[in-house]
Amino acid sequence: MAKKRVLITGGAGFLGSHLCDRFLKEGHYVIAMDNLITGDLRNIEHLFKHPDFEFYHHDVSKFVHVPGELDYILHFASPASPIDYLKIPIQTLKVGSLGTHNLLGLARAKKARIIIASTSEVYGDPTVHPQTEEYYGNVNTVGPRGVYDEAKRFQEAITMAYHTFHGLETRIVRIFNTYGPRMRLNDGRVLPAFIGQALRGEDLTIFGDGSQTRSFCYVDDLVEGIYRLLMSDYAQPVNIGNPSEITIKEFAEEIIKLTNTTQKVVYKDLPKDDPKQRQPDITKAKQILGWEPKVSRAEGLKITYEYFKSLPKEVLYLRDHKSFDGYNK
Ligand code: UDP
Repeated sequence: MAKKRVLITGGAGFLGSHLCDRFLKEGHYVIAMDNLITGDLRNIEHLFKHPDFEFYHHDVSKFVHVPGELDYILHFASPASPIDYLKIPIQTLKVGSLGTHNLLGLARAKKARIIIASTSEVYGDPTVHPQTEEYYGNVNTVGPRGVYDEAKRFQEAITMAYHTFHGLETRIVRIFNTYGPRMRLNDGRVLPAFIGQALRGEDLTIFGDGSQTRSFCYVDDLVEGIYRLLMSDYAQPVNIGNPSEITIKEFAEEIIKLTNTTQKVVYKDLPKDDPKQRQPDITKAKQILGWEPKVSRAEGLKITYEYFKSLPKEVLYLRDHKSFDGYNK
């Protein structure tokens, strides 16, 4: 394929940085954009010497200007953990709504194809299991997750409107729980929470009775699915995730084994509107993209644990988000 110019928003984040790596590996020119609220330059510092890589420090909720041509836009900017939604709810709403609108406008101006990162959260606390793309979801609009879930639902709606009304080439990926190196250690998500606790010698905190389920996908598998979806001609939403489902209690036991910690589990209150079960139905991804995950949880967790162990010790004790009120304007 001829060299393409690719814009990746959220490029310094967990998924965004892996996407930068992938598109550079495919021989493309990559512009990463990030406001660094939850992203981290350490995720892309290895790319700064790359001749086909540029970084723009910009908040996509404001007008986005990129000089020159663009072939692909990947909109992956957004806080993505329940703790972030509580701390920066208004930014979360703005990046999914205003940010998406700006990027759709940019895609139109540049005649670029755009893929937007949606989420299993559009299904809310699902009453259909596993979740197919046809399920409309069960979301509490005014609950703590509403700011993320509704921003992402709006994002899908406006993306589809640009597709049907303006004929824009759009793709929508519904991402299920994903893990791997470069996850933020202190973002509150269950995997970094458990591994961080094991490394600090603390007990592992299970929320609720631990009977709620999640299905965890290793990041390389996810990136492959996203790449294939972008290259396909399918404009309807597609679930990408690993259907291997596990309860949070069993997951804690796996982490205890993996890290060899002598710590125990302790039980805390279940956060409001915490989905009881989650598993992607990936029939569409299999049929349309010929995609399915390849990395087992055992393999993926080992790689991820090695990454967290290799971080400087101070990172284990860092707190996220300085209390800067500007984020919620
Ligand atoms: N969870 C937990 N202990 C923690 C952090 C999370 O038991 O220290 C639970 C959380 O209540 C949820 C699941 O693990 O049921 C996954 O949480 P996460 O924040 O990773 O993502 P979610 O899938 O809920 O968006």
